[in-house]
Amino acid sequence: MKEQLLNKSAAINTPLADGCTRRIALFGSTGSIGRQALEVIAGNSSLFSVEVLTAYNNEELLIEQALRFNPNIVVIGDEKKYQKVKEALSATEIKVFAGEKALEEVASMDCYDLMLAAIVGYAGLRPVLRAIGNGKSVALANKETLVVAGDIIMRKAVENRVPVIPVDSEHSAIFQCLVGEMRNKIEKIILTASGGPFLGRKPNYLVNVKREHALQHPNWNMGAKITIDSATLMNKGLEMIEARWLFNLNPEQIQVVIHPQSIIHSMVQFEDGSIKAQMGLPDMKLPIQYALAFPRRIPNTFPRYDFKKYNTLTFEEPDLRTFRNLGLAMDALNKGGNLPAVMNAANEIAVYAFLRNRVNFLDMTDVIEKTMHKVSFIPSPTLEEYFESDGMARNYAADLIKL
Ligand code: NDP
Ligand code: MG
Repeated sequence: MKEQLLNKSAAINTPLADGCTRRIALFGSTGSIGRQALEVIAGNSSLFSVEVLTAYNNEELLIEQALRFNPNIVVIGDEKKYQKVKEALSATEIKVFAGEKALEEVASMDCYDLMLAAIVGYAGLRPVLRAIGNGKSVALANKETLVVAGDIIMRKAVENRVPVIPVDSEHSAIFQCLVGEMRNKIEKIILTASGGPFLGRKPNYLVNVKREHALQHPNWNMGAKITIDSATLMNKGLEMIEARWLFNLNPEQIQVVIHPQSIIHSMVQFEDGSIKAQMGLPDMKLPIQYALAFPRRIPNTFPRYDFKKYNTLTFEEPDLRTFRNLGLAMDALNKGGNLPAVMNAANEIAVYAFLRNRVNFLDMTDVIEKTMHKVSFIPSPTLEEYFESDGMARNYAADLIKL
């Protein structure tokens, strides 16, 4: 798979050459990744054009973005908001669609070269499947897509000769370390984790933490769901599964190390023991830009890391006894089948409930664990079985919480 990624990546068929723009479909344009991607695009308007923008709820921002970037198409997920978006854009040529089906249909269109998959959660899976089926390159931020159905996604990507370029900073780091290493085997990868806002805390502290506290990430400013996932360390678990599929690794080749400064974004260790790391300040615009422009690096004026200013980098083991979500994700990674999909669905429900103050911080783990025990295990699921497992897990988890 590594070879497939690095070989075929060169096949992103619109070169970033003079006078030739890469046409971007930005799925999830109103989110944290989506907004930062638009900043990157705005700074490089001779290289990129925006062809598609999508949102779910936030019609105000979608309209503002559409008026500024003049895409070919916008999609608003919530159909009730269609009329408002349509009217606001009536003086333009922009086509407006609404609803979840429209998100898939637009992903199947030919008007773009590269999809930036920045919808959050399971909702991002179907548009990505359509993009890959349609032979479009994918810059993937939506890690849940690979957690749910990574085997199918990567198989289809190979069949359709579609590059899947990671946007997640750790996976971008690994991807960057692998450039030029096509023939060399990976011994292991080392995923770094900041540890989140509750690093060093114990369960007696965590039982009382509230939503506002958990939403304060020390290093990264992200959407609400991934911020909670970072606080519980589920995010790192999801990333282990994401890495397994992106780089075709065995579970035992994936190690997690806590690195609170978030300067080393991840590392690859090769068979000779040599370790390559990718470093920089924690700023998602860099991996976003790298994925949009791949295989080129383009200049920018983002702040630079200064070794004199921050001269201590530290590393420690994750505390699996306290942050049990990471252990559950490791189980899901090891057992495979539909278990990661079940875990992901239960986690989405648990995080949703926590953000609405319906469960406490530690209850999230119980909901996920019980759901993982309840839903029947399927060793090699079909796509349909992944969808069904997701639905069953969601229903069971929601019943547990009485949502
Ligand atoms: P946000 O919550 O900030 O944004 C999510 C985007 O998805 C918004 O545009 C939102 O629209 C849209 N959306 C939400 N629900 C649906 C739905 N049911 N159907 C269609 N669209 C929907 O998330 P982030 O930008 O933080 O994260 C996006 C993805 O990238 C996640 O998978 C995350 O794990 C991953 N990622 C994020 C990082 C970050 O720094 N933020 C870092 C690495 C990975 P609306 O605003 O209208 O509701
Ligand atoms: Mg990450």
